[in-house]
Amino acid sequence: MHHFDLKDGALQAEGVSLEALAEAVGTPAYVYSTATLTRHYGVLREAADAHREAWGDALIAYAVKANSNLSVLATLARLGCGADTVSEGEIRRALAAGVPAGKIIFSGVGKTDGELAFAIQQGVRQINVESPAELDRLIPIAERLGKVPEIAIRVNPKIGAGGHAKITTGGEGDKFGIPADEAMALYVRAAASPHVTPVGLACHIGSQITDLTPLEAAFRLLRSMTEELRAKGQTVTRLDLGGGLGVPYVGGAPTASPADYVAMAARVLDGLGVEAAFEPGRLLAANAGVLLSRVIQITERADGRRFLVLDAAMNDLIRPAMYDSFHEIKAVRPREAGGHNAPTAYDVVGPICETGDTFARGRDLPPLQAGDLVVFTGAGAYGAVMSSEYNTRPLVPEVLVDGDRWAVIRPRPTYEEMLAREPMADWL
Ligand SMILES: *Cc1c(COP(=O)(O)O)cnc(C)c1O
Repeated sequence: MHHFDLKDGALQAEGVSLEALAEAVGTPAYVYSTATLTRHYGVLREAADAHREAWGDALIAYAVKANSNLSVLATLARLGCGADTVSEGEIRRALAAGVPAGKIIFSGVGKTDGELAFAIQQGVRQINVESPAELDRLIPIAERLGKVPEIAIRVNPKIGAGGHAKITTGGEGDKFGIPADEAMALYVRAAASPHVTPVGLACHIGSQITDLTPLEAAFRLLRSMTEELRAKGQTVTRLDLGGGLGVPYVGGAPTASPADYVAMAARVLDGLGVEAAFEPGRLLAANAGVLLSRVIQITERADGRRFLVLDAAMNDLIRPAMYDSFHEIKAVRPREAGGHNAPTAYDVVGPICETGDTFARGRDLPPLQAGDLVVFTGAGAYGAVMSSEYNTRPLVPEVLVDGDRWAVIRPRPTYEEMLAREPMADWL
């Protein structure tokens, strides 16, 4: 949060006043810090480069799904970051933002034939094959296009991990990846085809993982599979270690540091002679963004319950409703406590007609009044990308700050634009 600090009594994003942004852009709005994105990428890059003996120049492929705004992607692309993508749309975004195809990984459990063909034609670095059925579809597509894509086989290590059941992807019952024995058989089968080149193995076991133990177990499995495949005469040159390292959300569990995470990976892969790829999403983006919102009113019940009703809702930030996530809520201009201004426990809610539209229950917050601005911190990842227009609430805008300058990088649509998107059936 170093780039969202108090200055003259109010929070700023780098050198830009959040109060001024709220005036200019309206609320709710996401605000991202270029300096934080840059710092997060730099920390990981430096850690990866400190272990060149383990893997040469490791690829850092930002998981686009965490925050796919073109300006966010372009900011990272200019630092040399690659992209981990899960759809044709994300590949198109990464290319449009200036990520070279040679740094784009295409992952995902349900890639369509059209998406596979698109990825092959663009010459992406690597397609991560997640099932035997997908390989069966990929081979004839590659043959028809006359190209030989490099592929990795995504392993399901039967190690589920992550901050919530809905973001665990490596467990036995999860839909992602292929069990180790089957994955090795598939690797051998792929190598026998002249239409694809298997180059490595991939895994991604979950998200918001705060402890390195499950990640280490998964990386060890990739290592032993690499050794076994090589013993069978296969060539294995790349390991894609996935993403999933958690970030410190204020009030949440303490998290292993990126440096410790990378050092652990280097220790596990030591001497193996593979190129490593990391696919961080949340790690780069989460704490680079806040959701800025205004207090509509404070509703007090006879039983003493207080509801802080915000103009942001679950359609703008769904993580609390979907994953029970904790986001710190801060006043943009904190009021002095004292007199009537005592800190109070609030149920913090949005205006949507669903009980799920609750950001926090019984949250102790400093004194607030109608019209005050607040921010949700840690909202740069899995925030705006999951937003919708539920309740016909205009899609939440996004703003990128860089020092003293700022730009609207996704505008809020007008109601006219929203209605114009829906052509009336011609019989009505
Ligand atoms: C979601 C995802 C990531 C990124 O996960 P984070 O927890 O945001 O780091 C990386 N790789 C794959 C394959 C993913 O699906």
